[in-house]
Amino acid sequence: MSLARAVLLRASRSAWLADQFRRRAFARRAVRRFMPGEDVGAALDAAATFAREGIGSVVTALGERVRTPEEADAVRAHYLEVIDSIRARALPTHVSVKLTHLGLDVNEARCLDAVRALAARAAETASFLWIDIEESHYVDATLALYHRVRAEHPLTGVCLQAYLHRTPEDLERVLAAGGSVRLVKGAYREPPEIAYPRKADTDAAYARLAERMLDAAPRSLQVFGTHDLALLERVRASAERRALPEDSWEVHMLYGIRTAEQRALAARGVAVRVLISYGSQWFPWYVRRLAERPANVWFVVKSLVG
Ligand SMILES: Cc1cc2nc3c(=O)[nH]c(=O)nc-3n(C[C@H](O)[C@H](O)[C@H](O)COP(=O)(O)OP(=O)(O)OC[C@H]3O[C@@H](n4cnc5c(N)ncnc54)[C@H](O)[C@@H]3O)c2cc1C
Repeated sequence: MSLARAVLLRASRSAWLADQFRRRAFARRAVRRFMPGEDVGAALDAAATFAREGIGSVVTALGERVRTPEEADAVRAHYLEVIDSIRARALPTHVSVKLTHLGLDVNEARCLDAVRALAARAAETASFLWIDIEESHYVDATLALYHRVRAEHPLTGVCLQAYLHRTPEDLERVLAAGGSVRLVKGAYREPPEIAYPRKADTDAAYARLAERMLDAAPRSLQVFGTHDLALLERVRASAERRALPEDSWEVHMLYGIRTAEQRALAARGVAVRVLISYGSQWFPWYVRRLAERPANVWFVVKSLVG
């Protein structure tokens, strides 16, 4: 891991920096590059614009590691409203949630109950509910919860991180249960015993895992969450060789990253969704985006002077 990436990922956990940044106009300007606005209305308006271009979306409210049952309950209530708004506006939009935002650290049973409620509400409109994956110490609890929810609600999927050494086994278990995976490279700071420190190893692991997911794609939706165009081309070519139906796999990218390529892929008949984040708790998430491409720090500097 590069020094710049390590420093940024450490900074992403600073409550002091979060507070300082959130109050600064330049930081709010810079963050706009990766999110259309802080409120859900802005996210759904952006989703409607993408929909007109034939691109689907996934929305997520920023926030993680809540500390009280009241906060967790408010997040659950918020997402239930969001699912209703998506339905009312007839948007091709799914929802993705972080379990620590729904109180995983506070009360696991209540968190499970919340995810069940959201999955049930999403299923009413044949929509999909995604579960993000966070730091490695949350993976066991996240997958245990996912397997329980998936047994009742098939239209649910979980994110897995290619950089973790354990992921091939986790993937096999999810696929054996008929589950859906959104494969990403992994965005957190993890020790080498747990995750590949070298990007090339993560990329190679991603390619291997992607092939296993394509084996399962005729039976369950599989998703490739990456901006790595070389990897995506391998996935596309493999899906074509296998003559997979177009709706059996999707590419998900983040709002504001490789926008032209999102459109180009959709124009080639690939099912593309943009993950749109919103909310005021953007600091840790935003710094993870900077860490993915430390050159992005220059956009922050430009916002400071511009
Ligand atoms: C839909 C989606 C959902 C995700 N969900 C999770 C999750 O639940 N848990 C988790 O740990 N991680 C998640 N991530 C983040 C992921 O783990 C990676 O950190 C992130 O996607 C960067 O890796 P990459 O696959 O794009 O490949 P990279 O090899 O890092 O990037 C490929 C190319 O994409 C461009 N690029 C990548 N990131 C940026 C950026 N921030 N700014 C500008 N250009 C960029 C660059 O041109 C780069 O050369 C998600 C990512 C996506 C797309």
